[in-house]
Amino acid sequence: MEHIDIVVLGAGIAGLGAALAARRQGRRAVLFEARHRSGGLLDNFEVDGFRFDHAVHLSFASEPLVREIFDRTPYLTHPADSTCFEDGRWLKHPVQNNLHPLPPQQKVDLIQSFLARPAELGGEDYEHWLRHQYGDAIAERFPIKYTTKYWATPAQDLSTTWIGNRMRRAELGEILFGAFTDETPNTYYTKEMRYPEKGGYKAFIQGLIDESEIRTGHAAVAVDPVQRVVTFADGTRVGYDRLVSTLPLPVLARLMDAPAPVLNAASRLKATSIDLISVGIDSPEDFPLWLYIYDEDLLASRIYSPSKKSPDNAPAGCSSLQFEVYSRGTESRYTKQALIDNARLTLERLGLCDPAAVRFYDHRRLPYGNVIFDRGMEADRDIVRAHVKEHGILSCGRFGEWDYLWSNQSLISGYEALSGDR
Ligand SMILES: Cc1cc2nc3c(=O)[nH]c(=O)nc-3n(C[C@H](O)[C@H](O)[C@H](O)COP(=O)(O)OP(=O)(O)OC[C@H]3O[C@@H](n4cnc5c(N)ncnc54)[C@H](O)[C@@H]3O)c2cc1C
Repeated sequence: MEHIDIVVLGAGIAGLGAALAARRQGRRAVLFEARHRSGGLLDNFEVDGFRFDHAVHLSFASEPLVREIFDRTPYLTHPADSTCFEDGRWLKHPVQNNLHPLPPQQKVDLIQSFLARPAELGGEDYEHWLRHQYGDAIAERFPIKYTTKYWATPAQDLSTTWIGNRMRRAELGEILFGAFTDETPNTYYTKEMRYPEKGGYKAFIQGLIDESEIRTGHAAVAVDPVQRVVTFADGTRVGYDRLVSTLPLPVLARLMDAPAPVLNAASRLKATSIDLISVGIDSPEDFPLWLYIYDEDLLASRIYSPSKKSPDNAPAGCSSLQFEVYSRGTESRYTKQALIDNARLTLERLGLCDPAAVRFYDHRRLPYGNVIFDRGMEADRDIVRAHVKEHGILSCGRFGEWDYLWSNQSLISGYEALSGDR
């Protein structure tokens, strides 16, 4: 049986970060990746000469460690301008600060409801938080609806621990200003988004991939933390001194054959999965960089334009879009045909381009998208993390930490997992 100093499970950015730390410590790390390609969520795919990332990916990393790596790749910068579609109208983001396009009476009703918002939080769940922030009318019309699309979970079942700077807090001055004019400032939590000139988002980590020792097509199927052995789907077994895992925590718990209380806690950890409907268009459209959709009968929560991120993502004279549709758990709540029909309907309703110019609708799935912050999730996560740690396994990355990490944070998570290891 082969023996390796550091075995890393998963060749996404977190695993690549761990391998980088190992190299800097003068140690040998080998990454084992289930898919036949590296990059994890940062990978991309091509359809008929069009390149699509795995959902929207733009970088706003500020950490020196990450910038030093990403900035080796020539990149384009975009202002973080996004827009929202609801009931036939376009509103700037965030909607509560950009009510200008709405009819006067609707604006008055929404603002009056904001003024009458509950003074006390009244509960620890996300729905209470939304009502307390924005008032019932804005909360019900916009974010509560959006939550059932994006999180595939009712707002009352979610905690608020993930919010951070992701939701703009409501202020009367901003709401009033945006009701009178559409000349509102961009309040998004980052001003500038970076994206590789060529090669898709993955180009930012191509250097790390090239420098790392990676074995693709190796799905781990069992982890024995006592014997320190990993077994792969083809029956190969590899011994290790140190195991770094970037696998989803519930998957790792199963591979370790953890005791029942740990497996039970792990089974309660839920993430969204994502249906990606990628659209190639035979005309050079200037789409928004990304947009949010509030209408419930339109399944996509978000659409972005790969060709807007970089023209390198589409053949000359063409453009592209990708629709993101979310489900709770690893199975989709829709059929492929329903998703494609609905993407067609969405394109028509939003009037983004001439439907006759669409060359194809491609469908594929990501089994793990966003960790869902169900109320009480952290207690279950702590149980699983403690078990993994007790067995000397370093679990890192978005799904290894089971947290809402951006790519830069996932890189650092992998990098730091090994720091202090020697
Ligand atoms: C919809 C969406 C939009 C996002 N947008 C942005 C953005 O704009 N900017 C940004 O910075 N970040 C963004 N992110 C976050 C970013 O994608 C993640 O932080 C990052 O890619 C996670 O990397 P990772 O290595 O932790 O996980 P992954 O990339 O998931 O890597 C884990 C790897 O483990 C492999 N694996 C799984 N099971 C096994 C097994 N049994 N054996 C071996 N290998 C296995 C998987 O195939 C995968 O390659 C977004 C994420 C999503 C879902």
